[in-house]
Amino acid sequence: MKAALVLGAGGFIGGHLVKRLKREGFWVRGVDLKFHEFAETEADDFVIGDLREQDFCRSIFDRGFDEVYQLAADMGGAGYIFTGDHDAAIMHNSAAINLNVASIAHNRGIIRTFYSSSACIYPAYNQDDHNNPNCREDSAYPAAPDSEYGWEKLFSERLFLAYNRNFGLSNRVARYHNIFGPEGTWDGGKEKAPAAICRKIAMARSGDAIEIWGDGLQTRSFLYVDECIEGSVRLTRSQFEGPVNIGSDEKVTINQLVDIVADIAGKKIEKNHVPGPLGVRGRNSENSLIQKELGWSPPQNLRTGLEKTYEWIEWQVRGNE
Ligand code: NAD
Repeated sequence: MKAALVLGAGGFIGGHLVKRLKREGFWVRGVDLKFHEFAETEADDFVIGDLREQDFCRSIFDRGFDEVYQLAADMGGAGYIFTGDHDAAIMHNSAAINLNVASIAHNRGIIRTFYSSSACIYPAYNQDDHNNPNCREDSAYPAAPDSEYGWEKLFSERLFLAYNRNFGLSNRVARYHNIFGPEGTWDGGKEKAPAAICRKIAMARSGDAIEIWGDGLQTRSFLYVDECIEGSVRLTRSQFEGPVNIGSDEKVTINQLVDIVADIAGKKIEKNHVPGPLGVRGRNSENSLIQKELGWSPPQNLRTGLEKTYEWIEWQVRGNE
């Protein structure tokens, strides 16, 4: 039986990844600071602990793993990573985890670790025009991410790839672009735009206005979590090390995102534009490289993903009735 280790298994994407690997017949160990908030884990073994601590990190590599997925990070949406209040913690915590995982996995003979980097590594200067953002993988340098979260991701993707060069490993690096779906953070300050908008609309009555940060003309693309997992698993098992974008290339403005969710909810929703943390002006995944290297790229189905997500968040808002 194949074995997989999922670090960050108590989080949003890690929780979905555990389910996928179990469906494939893997023996799965999940590791996190906490249990998953919204679902019982399907992992065969779930270890609670802090990956910043070397001894703990060593202890979870007490057996061989065919695949290791490193998703653990100190992260959140714009309200968490762009205010500046959490910069030191984000950089310290995530870098400490990655330094431990990269070296201990290597020392324990793990050849291939998947690492989830982010679209936040891309230079701010290529994302000033909301109609024409450039997020091709080779546009990452000269580096100028707009957040410390992005700088840490850039450092860590280089770290995993340096292990490949120096020790002949086959680590894989993906740059995720705004992943969304059910069983993710939907309130409390760490939620991302799709979840926040679904929550606000689920709580609103038809005709109400909801608050939108900025003028709502900033563009993004959003990838449904199942497609993210599909891309991650395909990359891990491929011969391509990356870095490669795993994202949707279906670009929308935040205003359009609100309109789609309002339509799904069957509510008339007004927008009240207020100041707030915004991030770059435009961002969209560029998918030629993943298509070329994996012969696959995420299909465009934003609305379908939003329907499933809205249904789940509305159920949360109603208190799981
Ligand atoms: P998440 O916050 O839901 O999951 C991350 C998990 O890591 C959390 O459960 C957290 O408790 C755990 N963790 C944090 N510090 C830890 C520590 N010291 N020891 C053990 N566990 C620890 O985030 P997610 O959305 O599932 O993202 C997974 C990965 O993908 C992260 O690395 C994130 O940076 C990256 N990513 C996500 C997105 C996205 O849109 N969700 C976009 C780009 C990159």
